[in-house]
Amino acid sequence: MDQVLKEKLGRAQTIVLMGHVRPDGDCVGSVLALYLYLKKNEPSKNVTVCLEKPLEKFKYLSGFSEIVSDADAVQHPDLAIALDVSDKGRLGGFTALFDRAADQLNIDHHITNPHFAATTICDPSASSTCELLYTLLDAERIDAEIAAALYTGIVTDSGVFKYSSTSPRTMNIAADLIAKGIPFGEIIDGSFYRKTYVQNKIMGLALLNAVENADGTVIYAIISAEEQARMETVHADLDGISEQLRLTVGVKCAVLCSEMEPGSWKLSLRSLEPIDVAAIAMMYGGGGHVRAAGCTIVGKRPEEIMEEVVRAAEAQMHV
Ligand code: 5GP
Ligand code: MN
Repeated sequence: MDQVLKEKLGRAQTIVLMGHVRPDGDCVGSVLALYLYLKKNEPSKNVTVCLEKPLEKFKYLSGFSEIVSDADAVQHPDLAIALDVSDKGRLGGFTALFDRAADQLNIDHHITNPHFAATTICDPSASSTCELLYTLLDAERIDAEIAAALYTGIVTDSGVFKYSSTSPRTMNIAADLIAKGIPFGEIIDGSFYRKTYVQNKIMGLALLNAVENADGTVIYAIISAEEQARMETVHADLDGISEQLRLTVGVKCAVLCSEMEPGSWKLSLRSLEPIDVAAIAMMYGGGGHVRAAGCTIVGKRPEEIMEEVVRAAEAQMHV
């Protein structure tokens, strides 16, 4: 096991594992993988997963039903370990819990991570927090349940092994995980491709709303709160739409601009070379990765935001 992780765990008895708001597959996968690992290999420790309730689609993961969404469930943890948390704000309602822990560790892979925890292990070359976590654990102590959680995170954040963050190391780790006997096809469908009826419908609407700009190199779609309410979708139902927009022929930068609540617009950005969407998201206080980033903007009309984003993307293409 990684020395830093080992030392931190060695000094702690009561441990909380935490993730980010609206936990995705990498967040849920890394948190539950570490939870299952500690439960099996460090049974004397008192470990609690404190996390916003994840999407039901992840309920195939062992430990899912043991997730605690009450931020006051643990009062004085010896150690808080945040996983996949790219900046402090993404701890959401669990920030106070993180702050009152005697010791803190953040395990993450976002290039924009400002190292807000007492100790940070951040490897931006890792496809996912799950890939990084695998390298910190003892491979022979990873069983099929832990492997399924790690595989879920790698699949999620690598876009099923296709984003530029996917490396030979990613594939070697995935091979090791498959060798543990996991249902990898079902995990890929369940965590990534399968959609509900309304998810397919809202994607259809977004694709109808899409507008091409800058000679077809930038595409965006705006979805209002009213449209989401009409289709009875929740925000997570929009996952995958920006990625589908990015797959449009000729597009280098794709943006889904969705109204989270009246007047609050969430951008989900995806790009191809040479566009750095993390830089665009950071103009609005957001962040993420070079090819996948996000932010939330209040106080501007969506058309105005999109004009700015198109200009920023065009400027990057012309340098
Ligand atoms: P998505 O478009 O799927 O919501 O997010 C894409 C990537 O951008 C994710 O890796 C996520 O961590 C990051 N991201 C999304 N929204 C925000 C945000 O508001 N702030 C920061 N720092 N990163 C974000
Ligand atoms: Mn991640």
